[in-house]
Amino acid sequence: MTDHMLIRGGTVVHRETTTRSDVLVVDGIISLVGEHLDIPAGTTIVDAEGCWVGPALVDLHTHLREPGGEEAETVASGARAGVLGGYSAVMAMPNTSPAIDSSAVVAQVLALGQASCLDVAVAGAITVGRLGERLAPLAEMAELGVTFFTDDGTGVQNAGLMRRAMEYARGLNVVIADHCEDDALAGDGCMNESSLSSELGLVGRPALAEEVMVARDLALAQHTGCELHLLHLSTVGSAALVAQAKQAGVNVTAEVAPHHLLLTEELCREYDPLYKVHPPLRTANDVEALRMALRSGGIDAVATDHAPHAPETKDRPFAEATPGMLGLQHAFALTREALGGADADPVLLFRVLSRTPAKIARLTQSDQRRGGHSAHGGEIAVGEDANLVVIDPEGRPVVRSEVLASKSRNTPYEGRTLLGAVRHTIVRGEIVVNDGVAQR
Ligand SMILES: [Zn+2]
Repeated sequence: MTDHMLIRGGTVVHRETTTRSDVLVVDGIISLVGEHLDIPAGTTIVDAEGCWVGPALVDLHTHLREPGGEEAETVASGARAGVLGGYSAVMAMPNTSPAIDSSAVVAQVLALGQASCLDVAVAGAITVGRLGERLAPLAEMAELGVTFFTDDGTGVQNAGLMRRAMEYARGLNVVIADHCEDDALAGDGCMNESSLSSELGLVGRPALAEEVMVARDLALAQHTGCELHLLHLSTVGSAALVAQAKQAGVNVTAEVAPHHLLLTEELCREYDPLYKVHPPLRTANDVEALRMALRSGGIDAVATDHAPHAPETKDRPFAEATPGMLGLQHAFALTREALGGADADPVLLFRVLSRTPAKIARLTQSDQRRGGHSAHGGEIAVGEDANLVVIDPEGRPVVRSEVLASKSRNTPYEGRTLLGAVRHTIVRGEIVVNDGVAQR
């Protein structure tokens, strides 16, 4: 039986422009885009009046915690948070227990992803156990379709090992992604190193810890020709280094997290561990530079670094609490707030939250491997897979812990009123969020 769905009355957000159009989806594929479409009887109508219709979002940086951290999140619960946030695909980070450092664990997480309500791409670890000592079997994981490798949670500290990883990755045509923090410089720091950290009596993690590794990785990428992706950049200096490297022709992309676009170190004043994250919240000056870099294309994408944590590890004194915060469910409105609120350009928002991350994750074409994922971040055009989101730009959802689909509650945005609400999320032509409610 053919399945027809009409997304009616919305403003379609294309790559460069927007148009007022209806979108007809037949059996999971966009089959008509235009005005006043003739539709067969029995067509499901999705109301998009007054809404933006764009490609569903793609997250490059999601901690789904499975296997090993199921008390904080599972692939199923993280996926539900994702679709409620308008996502159709996420990249699962490998700092699980065991780490995703072999084809066996890759296959396990891919299978969990296939059973979830969105497409899960898997990042493999660069080193065995993420210990930074010897290379993980990248080729074996690449055979299963893994194209993105990182030891996220920590950076690869040994420059010689990172050079070998990049040389190897180049041959395999895969991306090396790094969490840039030099352990020797970051030390036991738990917030940004500044006059404020001294005032609060907390040990600081200097901007330098990040920038030293960014500079090192850029030099290694230039030397090896490897495609490099820099995770969650947080400083004005990092943004400048990446802009310079791009001008020099280095094959690099970079992401920034919504919290680094919105929150500053000032929030650490109350010693509330909800504001502890690595890299740490920085200064207003850094926030402004990151926003500018995102607008200019110096930084390519927004990635959530969604990091669920159970209360046993998070509700502790600031210095001892585990770093990280939730991000998936409200990333669109938070990014919009950072990029000008009601004035933010939807074309830019869908570029940095969907189209560019899909390219970096190599999710723009469907692939029989990786659990057989569909194509994401594409044009709203005939023949494309229907991974779509309908967002009410006037919606004003309030972040409340009871609305969070995550198994964890560590959001720094409790009580915040956002501008823009995800109304419907469509994954492979299926309505997985209808009027703001997850369907499974
Ligand atoms: Zn990280």
